[in-house]
Amino acid sequence: MRFLSRFVIKPIAASLMVTLLSSSVALAQKEFKSGIEWPEPKVVTPGSATVAPSDAIILFDGKDLSQWKNGENWIIKDGAATANKSGISTKQAFGDAQIHLEWASPEKVEGTGQGRGNSGIYLMGKYEVQILDSFVNKTYYDGQAGSIYKQYPPLVNACRKPGEWQTYDIIFNAPRFDKEGKVSKPGHITVLHNGVLVQNHSELQGGTMFDRPPEYKAHADKLPLDIQFHGNPVKFRNIWVREFKELLPPEKASVANKLKELNKSQEPKK
Ligand code: MG
Repeated sequence: MRFLSRFVIKPIAASLMVTLLSSSVALAQKEFKSGIEWPEPKVVTPGSATVAPSDAIILFDGKDLSQWKNGENWIIKDGAATANKSGISTKQAFGDAQIHLEWASPEKVEGTGQGRGNSGIYLMGKYEVQILDSFVNKTYYDGQAGSIYKQYPPLVNACRKPGEWQTYDIIFNAPRFDKEGKVSKPGHITVLHNGVLVQNHSELQGGTMFDRPPEYKAHADKLPLDIQFHGNPVKFRNIWVREFKELLPPEKASVANKLKELNKSQEPKK
């Protein structure tokens, strides 16, 4: 149901579509499933949250969603933003980044499987780390909370109870493309869910698709982050991001430094 789109649903259409989701839409689109029989992720009890570091770009501090396109569609109350009407998308674009967000699935449990507390963060608007109420709520494992949707299940199920705040700390290495648009280096995602490792440098197989296998399509070095609206009032707070640069491997770095020193020594003295 991810095809619902993250930010284009018009308000009236949205309510209608949500009602019709499980029936007509499911019939209209053939769902892709990997068919791989993953073992069930073990359930563990998670630790506690963190505060933003000094160099973070704050994307939501509990007051407003001015850093986001379509932020006006969401409901802000008591320091939290509740998903509503459409997805949201950062005004700023990011590539390699460390991302922190806190989310809570609805306290009042409604729906089952993918219909319960569903949202997701789309790195570069393309690669979904699934958000779902996976507390005693079975679905396909590569679609539960902490999964890279339809690519990798989480290593363990670290989900808290519905209504409780949860954290995601994500380290994202964006994919690189060559001049012909082919992948020269695939993307990688590491995720800590409530401080527990659930994705360990997992190699992205491509963009997240609902109805077909993941696929790469060349894109810009930096793109906005999206948060999905999937018809469920999932809450968010404390969202921040830190961009980082890829370091050269030590041997290349030392060669580069030596060349720099050599060039410097050959500069005419003033
Ligand atoms: Mg989702």
